[in-house]
Amino acid sequence: MDPVNESKHDRPAGIPPNDAASEPSGVALWTLEGLRLSATVLSILYVAYAYLHSRLPGDISRVLVPWALCSSLLLLAIRWQLKPGDEGRPSIHIYSVAVAVIVLCHGFVVLALTRNPSQSVSLVLLLVGSSYIFLSRSLLGGLVVVVLIGWVVVAGPEVMMSSWRDYGMALISAATLGFILQTTRLHTYGRLESLRRQADDRALALRQRARHLETLISVGHSINGFLNVDALLDYVVETLHTSFGYDYVGIFLTDETGRYLDSRAGTGVAAKQLLAEGCRLEVGKQGLVGWVSRYREPVCVNDVTRDDRYLKVDLLATTQAEMVVPLGVGDALLGVLDLQSDRVDAFSAEDFRVCCSLADQVSTALQNASMYESERSRRSLMETLYRVGRALSQTLDVGEVLDLILSSLETVVAFDVGIVALHREGMLKIVAGRGFPDDVESTDEWLAIRDGGAYQVICETKQPLSIADVADLPAWEYSEVLPNTRAWVGLPLIDAEDAVIGILSLSRATPDPYSSAEVASSAAFAGQAGIALHNAQLYLELSEAYRRLRSLDSAKSDFITLASHELRTPLTLVTGYSHMLLEEPLLAQQSSLYSMAQGVAIGAGRLQQIVDRMMDLAEIESQSLQLEFAPTLLHSLMLDVVQQVSAAASQRHIHVVLEDFSALAAIEADQASLGKAFRQLVMNAIKYTPDGGQVLISGEVRLADQEGLSGQCVEITVADTGIGIDPVHHERIFDKFYNVGHVGLHSSGTVKFRGGGPGLGLAIVKGIVTAHRGDIWVESDGLDVDACPGSRFHVLLPVVQPVLGEEMRLKFLQNECPDLEISRVGEPESSGD
Ligand code: ADP
Repeated sequence: MDPVNESKHDRPAGIPPNDAASEPSGVALWTLEGLRLSATVLSILYVAYAYLHSRLPGDISRVLVPWALCSSLLLLAIRWQLKPGDEGRPSIHIYSVAVAVIVLCHGFVVLALTRNPSQSVSLVLLLVGSSYIFLSRSLLGGLVVVVLIGWVVVAGPEVMMSSWRDYGMALISAATLGFILQTTRLHTYGRLESLRRQADDRALALRQRARHLETLISVGHSINGFLNVDALLDYVVETLHTSFGYDYVGIFLTDETGRYLDSRAGTGVAAKQLLAEGCRLEVGKQGLVGWVSRYREPVCVNDVTRDDRYLKVDLLATTQAEMVVPLGVGDALLGVLDLQSDRVDAFSAEDFRVCCSLADQVSTALQNASMYESERSRRSLMETLYRVGRALSQTLDVGEVLDLILSSLETVVAFDVGIVALHREGMLKIVAGRGFPDDVESTDEWLAIRDGGAYQVICETKQPLSIADVADLPAWEYSEVLPNTRAWVGLPLIDAEDAVIGILSLSRATPDPYSSAEVASSAAFAGQAGIALHNAQLYLELSEAYRRLRSLDSAKSDFITLASHELRTPLTLVTGYSHMLLEEPLLAQQSSLYSMAQGVAIGAGRLQQIVDRMMDLAEIESQSLQLEFAPTLLHSLMLDVVQQVSAAASQRHIHVVLEDFSALAAIEADQASLGKAFRQLVMNAIKYTPDGGQVLISGEVRLADQEGLSGQCVEITVADTGIGIDPVHHERIFDKFYNVGHVGLHSSGTVKFRGGGPGLGLAIVKGIVTAHRGDIWVESDGLDVDACPGSRFHVLLPVVQPVLGEEMRLKFLQNECPDLEISRVGEPESSGD
């Protein structure tokens, strides 16, 4: 079936028909030319005629000469009046009659004066010639009648004489010939005229087609450059409107459900109104647009009153012809192009073909622009989410983060009012909002939760709920906070336990439903809001736990301080009295009582050690550890330490090796506390090394470059061949009361293999090292009682402490090491042998 289903013609739309009445007639043009030529030639002939008669004697010549001259002058005057371009004027008929009358009068005058029937020849010629100068058949007819009657009158009674009768017959023949000539001439000219018009029409149509093709090519080139769908559609409708002259051009695009066609672009006032009203048609249902969207075939109706599929739209009530072309790529329908005209037969087959090709190009460009737009919005969404994610990690102010989420969401999804509300006391408490009037504080507002309402549905499904137009839901309860809601979407805020704790609500004041892409974007932001709220909750819990820990820690410190102080005095008494008892001679004689007193003394001694440690720790924690820095030679200090642990080492058959430290420079340190620290480290090494193992104490000078410690340092390492320490404990073993082993391993012995203590030793060591502005850390491959990978405790100590003056250092070094060559700080070192 030819899609152009109504009467057709070759004239393109928008071009007016070729109106014959408005154009100069070719016949009239040629008549004018003939008249001008006839007037000129006849005028000359009459002058010649006058000249010839002036040479003849007689009365007739006296009349005919002036008559001929007058006729010549009149003809010249008429010739003078006839100008090129007069062919369209009605006066041309008057001039042709005037010429005919002059010739007629001259013919009759000659005939009457001469009474010679042969003079009828001029009338015969007049009748034949008039067929060329008269356009109108009635004028020719009138002339014929006048000539015949006049001739009969002039001939008088002699008319039936053979000489007159022959000329009479000649006149009748001339009249007939005149009619035939005029008819043939007019017919020929008419035919020529019609051919000329056809040629003009063809040329016009060709020009039109060339213009259409040019437009098509230029549109095809231009539309590929559009990256914005709306700009592309506007360009297409405007170009079709201006270049092709269609009264209405509109484009409908399918919505994401594929069920509706939304008006997206159009020309003219009506189209703008359709756009403003958000006109949408159901695919496959309403009007020619619906028909085309259903069958995916273009259609052209040149008289809409004769097509049942046509649906009259009030805003386009004057439409007489409509052409609708589908826009699609492959099987996917993207939309339709709708063209309407106020004229019947407005669209030609050529228009139809052009629009179909244009629709193909527009479809491709449309798909490209849509893909670009969706990619761009996806990128913008990712960037916004990234920004929000960064903000989330940088602040714990939940209000700030939620405000940021709403403002960022606004750049991705359009909404009039946005709310983050949390479930509290059976209601929804707004914790962040956007789009509220200036005088309303959004966070003061509460929303009611209704049985079976939107919030409950969201809680049950844990899925977003989008409502295209809440006005369609009679059960929708408008809240005072959101009175103008039309399109609405609610998204669940889900916590770490997968429970819905609140809602992200977005609403628009227009029935412009949220697309699934918009809902997906909003869901991503709702997820961020959920994380923010979860983080805030965690932060609160963490702060609370931290506060509790701090108070526990301080209670523990207080207890240590208090207990150590309180135990000290009775312990001194117990120790003192036990020693007194042991020295009592009476007791020495009673061995059982003596060994009891010994037990009390040993126990008191052990207790004293623990109380001393507690005292040390209390001092460290209260930062009241009094250190007396003095230049200290590590070699002698370490020799003392080895000496002190030798009994324990030999008890456990541990070989303690001390590297030669004599080459190490003296460091500024509190000798007593540093000795205590190293003794603890070596004792630990002995304790956690199986019998027969080895403890190696080594040291080296090195430059340190770490936070809080730089410059020349001494690094002492206590390495053992013991059971090792699991890396997960490497940091924490320096905390007070931290014990790696099982509590069941706790032992009151100080040298027993793996005999755990109270967990204070390393805490004190670290406190002492830190008070020296030093650093301590442990290295070990892990805990393995069988393989015994060993542990290496490193102590890094600065050579120089800021509290000692340089002079004092030099004095010490000169006293202690008189053989050493000593240079001041900043002086170049002497190159001693
Ligand atoms: P304690 O006072 O109980 O000995 P410390 O603070 O001295 O406690 O040590 C803490 C923990 O570190 C110990 O329980 C032990 O498990 C581990 N530890 C310390 N030194 C060593 C070592 N040289 N080898 C293996 N483990 C060690």
